[in-house]
Amino acid sequence: MALDPSHTPPVQASNFLRAIIERDLEAGDWSGRRFGGSPGDAAHHAAGAPDPARIRTRFPPEPNGYLHVGHAKSICLNFGLAQSYGGICHLRFDDTNPEKEEQEYVDAIIEAVRWLGFDWNVGGTSHLYYASSYFDFMYRAAEALVGAGLAYVDEQSAEAMRANRGDFNTPGTDSPYRGRTPAENLARLREMRDGLHADGAMVLRARIDMGSPNINLRDPTLYRIKRAHHHATGDQWCIYPMYTYAHPIEDALERITHSICTLEFEDQRPFYDWLLENLADLGLLARPLPRQHEFGRLNLSYVMTSKRKLRELVAEGVVEGWDDPRMPTLFGMRRRGYTPASIRAMADGSGASKTNIWLDYSVLEGCLRADLEGEAPRAMAVLDPLPLAITNWAEIYGSEGHIEACSAPAHPQRPELGLRQFGLGAQLWIERDDFAELPAKGFFRLFPGNKVRLKYGLVVECTGCEKDDQGRVTRVLARALPDTRSGTPGADAVKVKGTITWVAAHDAVAATVVLYDRLFTEAQPEAGGRDYRSVLNPHSKRVQAGYVEPGLAGAAREQRWQFERHGYFVTDRVLHTAEAPVFNRITTLRDGRAG
Ligand code: ATP
Ligand code: MG
Repeated sequence: MALDPSHTPPVQASNFLRAIIERDLEAGDWSGRRFGGSPGDAAHHAAGAPDPARIRTRFPPEPNGYLHVGHAKSICLNFGLAQSYGGICHLRFDDTNPEKEEQEYVDAIIEAVRWLGFDWNVGGTSHLYYASSYFDFMYRAAEALVGAGLAYVDEQSAEAMRANRGDFNTPGTDSPYRGRTPAENLARLREMRDGLHADGAMVLRARIDMGSPNINLRDPTLYRIKRAHHHATGDQWCIYPMYTYAHPIEDALERITHSICTLEFEDQRPFYDWLLENLADLGLLARPLPRQHEFGRLNLSYVMTSKRKLRELVAEGVVEGWDDPRMPTLFGMRRRGYTPASIRAMADGSGASKTNIWLDYSVLEGCLRADLEGEAPRAMAVLDPLPLAITNWAEIYGSEGHIEACSAPAHPQRPELGLRQFGLGAQLWIERDDFAELPAKGFFRLFPGNKVRLKYGLVVECTGCEKDDQGRVTRVLARALPDTRSGTPGADAVKVKGTITWVAAHDAVAATVVLYDRLFTEAQPEAGGRDYRSVLNPHSKRVQAGYVEPGLAGAAREQRWQFERHGYFVTDRVLHTAEAPVFNRITTLRDGRAG
């Protein structure tokens, strides 16, 4: 699915990962690799055919929440690199932690990655994997490490273990259990597996170096005892591998070549390599081994990208759910009307670097407008309606009920989309702020004595207005000027400074219009340790009763339009029905919220 080059966002994409992959491919680091057709150990891959994929990458979400725009960055990077270099990208659920993971999230993640436009089915093989299906191998690898004297069971209390780990300035202290023989450790490990010990009574640790300047190498924990029901393996296991142990093994079993992760894992890389080298030496994992590369996280202004924080917003009722159109989750963005292409363009355009980046939200909106400008058909809509009565209609057209047929291009640059049809009558809806009884300087729209063009219609001259007891304008009055119909000879004889949009009372479709705006008033909601709750935008959602053009009657869900002068709108994918239409504002026409 090639992206239209005109959609390239206004940022220079430099991506150091491309340079690494190109260098590796040039050096032939991954050539001659065999792949067993599915994940597996050294023997499985050795018996396989030469790997048809030039590189293998993976997107490895933990199924403990909904994906957000930060994950989109990682998805586009991993799938995108595989696409550009003749590789394959796996979708792998990193479901080794039984406590927080649920099937609901697995399903939602699959749907979101598909929606973004990526596919893990290649040549009839589905590269969708679950880390939990490697539990048997992980345990076998643990026994092998124990047998080689590279791991031991530690029965120190959690506090003693923490104290003996030392800190940045102090080397750690060896555990009294560190000197046990492999046979003793193996017996203990099997007891752990067989449920003979209480949760937390002991752990399996790698035996590396308690004096290492890298704290991650001070005998990290590999397995813990935890009686917890797992969404995929049920109650089969009462010991679970730690993420730092599981992740490198998952990569190696799947023959990943480039394991791309975010910067906070940089200090874990020495352990990643230690573990895989040892397991390869023990004959369990196939060489060449995967290599980990870290890139900077993507942060967007006005947005929080942390599953935990997003969960708080939902739990505290700040938003109406994970798919609230104000949420930066992929489900929220989809419901808001963001296109997959715009999110991909933003992700590709922001490249990859060795530092965390803050991207201005306007970059994403720019990608969105670039995509929608060419795609979205046009329509007229009135978001804050005020009646306008043309008082000389019967004089001109012979009857009060006469309807003038009007048309306009569905898209100004795409004649193939044809014309839209609607009627002009004596009773119309216009925007409340297109009328001013006492105009400010520079106001060129409706005020008593002024003429404007009703777009695609004719020129009217305002003659006054009606008001209620409170002085609020309830109706604007105007006279139509004959012979000014748009598209007829001489229509331009009367010069006007303003053109306004409208819909006719007889054929307009009543609709709920929801005007969404950013959730926070500050670009960095949590800057300086601030509680983001103190900078919530009270106007992030405004619900209005409006009217749209008759051609939008019966619109399906998730259809997008540009409402002329107002911005881009989408029919809500949850609430919209033909009887009760709901249009969400995706974004305004221009940055700066002039609107
Ligand atoms: P969160 O902090 O929101 O829970 P996470 O990193 O813990 O996110 P995972 O499910 O582990 O969530 O993430 C899957 C992948 O997405 C990881 O490789 C992670 O590094 C990547 N990722 C998550 N957030 C971002 C981000 N803001 N920018 C780039 N990559 C990200
Ligand atoms: Mg995580």
